[in-house]
Amino acid sequence: MLVRLRKDISEVEAEKVLAAIKRMGVGVEISRTRGSSAMIINENGNRLDKMIIKNIPAVEAVSESDNPYFLVSREFKKENSVVTVGDVIFGTGKPVIIAGPCAVENESQILETARLVHARGIRLMRGGAFKPRTSPYSFEGLGEEGLKLLAKAREETGVRIVTEVLDAIDVDLVAEYADMFQIGSRNMQNYKLLKAVGKHKKPVLLKRGMSANLNEFLMSAEHIMTEGNDRIVLCERGIRTFVEYSRNTLDLNVVPAVKQVSHLPIIVDPSHGTGRRDLIEPMSLAALAAGADGLIIEVHPHPDKSWSDPEQALSPEMFTRLMRKINHFMEWQQQYANEIPAR
Ligand code: PEP
Ligand code: MN
Repeated sequence: MLVRLRKDISEVEAEKVLAAIKRMGVGVEISRTRGSSAMIINENGNRLDKMIIKNIPAVEAVSESDNPYFLVSREFKKENSVVTVGDVIFGTGKPVIIAGPCAVENESQILETARLVHARGIRLMRGGAFKPRTSPYSFEGLGEEGLKLLAKAREETGVRIVTEVLDAIDVDLVAEYADMFQIGSRNMQNYKLLKAVGKHKKPVLLKRGMSANLNEFLMSAEHIMTEGNDRIVLCERGIRTFVEYSRNTLDLNVVPAVKQVSHLPIIVDPSHGTGRRDLIEPMSLAALAAGADGLIIEVHPHPDKSWSDPEQALSPEMFTRLMRKINHFMEWQQQYANEIPAR
């Protein structure tokens, strides 16, 4: 059951409503999103009387919607959500480009990359300090040392930092250094981790699980929202299919599909989506044409020497060319900014 409170009620009144509903049944749980007036009541086998709840003066509406991702849905919020990371804004119609290496390797590599991407207009840099690796023999990141190097790159160039948090236990540590949490594909259904970043105030980049469908993807975002953090940006990063010529299959259908049902911004990762540097430019442009709110791209000053994902790292020259094309695309896109997509 969903309860919408009147917008003008105070926090104290809201708490009273919450307590009153909780008393209506043993084990009744309530989730409420910070800054919103909606509450989700998990009845846990109780059958609460909708009319009694509706008659509480602070309650505006009660709905028996069974939408499992109500808070991230357009049913809850019609307008697009805007997520800010410092001076970087997702969801305004102007795509945000995130770039940086797969992993932080050492000081000179990350500083060189930060200068390189910053000079090409990037304001939000990626780089993994905690790396989820399919093989236990692969480089798993520098940990806190990597976070410190990212913070140093921010200090020097002003770029904001998005970096992966692998484990709920590291959330506070990563928050000390990062401007935005990244939840990786392999962790999209790590509910403890989702809840841990949900309790934080930092924005979250939530990558789609490689075998997750649209509903599962949005329900993971809902886990973060119900804890109170509504600063979420979704990221399509490719799914597992039978194809063998690319690392994953970039599901660009999901971009307009998400936009129909959710108010959250969605960006695309053509690096992991293709795993091939020769496919990144066309798929970046395709993602923007599909309506993505941004891209996240792996770049390395010396791609062949990259400690992780060298096959998909763009060289500085390739990245320069890509950014030139993206900028042209954005100029063209501006002309059509106010046109409503066909249904
Ligand atoms: C990454 O972006 O560094 C990464 C590991 O990606 P994914 O979680 O999408 O595999
Ligand atoms: Mn990578």
